[in-house]
Amino acid sequence: MTVYNFSAGPAMLPKPVLAQIKEDIPSFQNSGMSVMEISHRSNLFDNVIADAENDLRELMQIPDNYKVLFLQGGATLQFTAMPMNLATQYNRIGLIDTGHWSIRAGEEAEKIGTEVETIATSKQYHYHQLPEDIDDGNQYDYIHLTTNNTIEGTAFTKLPQTNQTLVGDMSSNFLAQQYKVADFGAIYAGAQKNLGIAGLTVVIVRDDLIGKKKLPSMLDYQLLANKNSMLNTPPVFAIYAAGLTLKWLKEIGGIAAMEKINRQKSALLYQFLDQSKLFNNLIKPADRSLTNISFVTGDKKIDRAFIEQAAQRGLVNLKGHRLVGGMRASLYNAMPLAGVTALTDFLDEFEQTQEAK
Ligand SMILES: *Cc1c(COP(=O)(O)O)cnc(C)c1O
Repeated sequence: MTVYNFSAGPAMLPKPVLAQIKEDIPSFQNSGMSVMEISHRSNLFDNVIADAENDLRELMQIPDNYKVLFLQGGATLQFTAMPMNLATQYNRIGLIDTGHWSIRAGEEAEKIGTEVETIATSKQYHYHQLPEDIDDGNQYDYIHLTTNNTIEGTAFTKLPQTNQTLVGDMSSNFLAQQYKVADFGAIYAGAQKNLGIAGLTVVIVRDDLIGKKKLPSMLDYQLLANKNSMLNTPPVFAIYAAGLTLKWLKEIGGIAAMEKINRQKSALLYQFLDQSKLFNNLIKPADRSLTNISFVTGDKKIDRAFIEQAAQRGLVNLKGHRLVGGMRASLYNAMPLAGVTALTDFLDEFEQTQEAK
């Protein structure tokens, strides 16, 4: 049985990436060692990390005045590291509240004494849409924005208008749709959704924003950049896996080609949901995410039955996040169109069975 994994993260990897990992495991580039065993100070690994950075720069067209960091601690650690490094002038950030992860970013910044002002929220809409406008009248070191709201299922396609520095948590739509790096002062993303496996977090940061004060070494972007992300032992295997995923994405045709496929995939599911009498997506159409699509029937028992029966067909991890309930299908880059077709076919079949009852 073909299994399609709709998990929100850790998520599916592209099949060719898994095949390459399998091939490389016993002996990476004829070294007689697996990539998990090689030194991070070896030429072998130097090439792995340099290729990963170059491919990422090429794919995202990252300008030269931005540093690319390969770090650990997940996106969650960046909720702390970002204000430590960037909130140095006003000690104040503006928060665009679009749901759970944006709130978490604010909470962690407050813990280190950064002032956090919510300058826009869509809470009154139960986060079923994005905020209509932002109030950036005050001065902020940066404005924090979650480009894709993994749990709620919204995403920014157009960024809010502001002259102030934007910082984007791009964890769940990194490399899934096109953004201009120069529109941000910094971007961060955990790798386990669109870039490979857990244990790696990518930070892309404009070089004039960092190096403003002394910080603990492992949180100091300037120091980490000076050391090419190798201040200590980096997550060698996760960087290698990200490198393979980036090569795969280049072969597909890059982010523009990937976005086209992602639009096709998500449109297929949204179209089904919009005509369905049983399943409902509650998100305002203009603000819908390409990568995380939640839906409900309004009846918890039916939701449960659907999730269980879908799993028996190999459509796994469709349970919605506990905060919103229902179902969620995560359609990250590695999810093929065939997986979405299998899902809509089964949604249709399930609905007809319900109607017949
Ligand atoms: C998953 C996710 C996080 C948390 O990522 P970790 O790497 O587990 O810390 C943060 N923000 C967003 C938008 C996410 O989707």
